[in-house]
Amino acid sequence: MPGADVVRGRRQPTLTRETLRKLGRLISCKEASRAISRMQDRDVSLPLYLRIRLHLLWCEACKRFLQQMRFMHDAMRRYRQ
Ligand SMILES: [Zn+2]
Repeated sequence: MPGADVVRGRRQPTLTRETLRKLGRLISCKEASRAISRMQDRDVSLPLYLRIRLHLLWCEACKRFLQQMRFMHDAMRRYRQ
């Protein structure tokens, strides 16, 4: 089949862990945690939100921080009701 080799040769770019790491490092853990806590009370801009999501893909510390923040936030909300 003509063109089959070309199709087979065209690979989708894969998001490697290394790529994610680089993108995630656009913000530091300090910035990420500050943005995460801000996220609980008000909206953050979409680009910042996406950077946080990327950061969270590889950073276990900030992932744990987000879980804690969510837990606290839910607890506070339940308390207020
Ligand atoms: Zn982090």
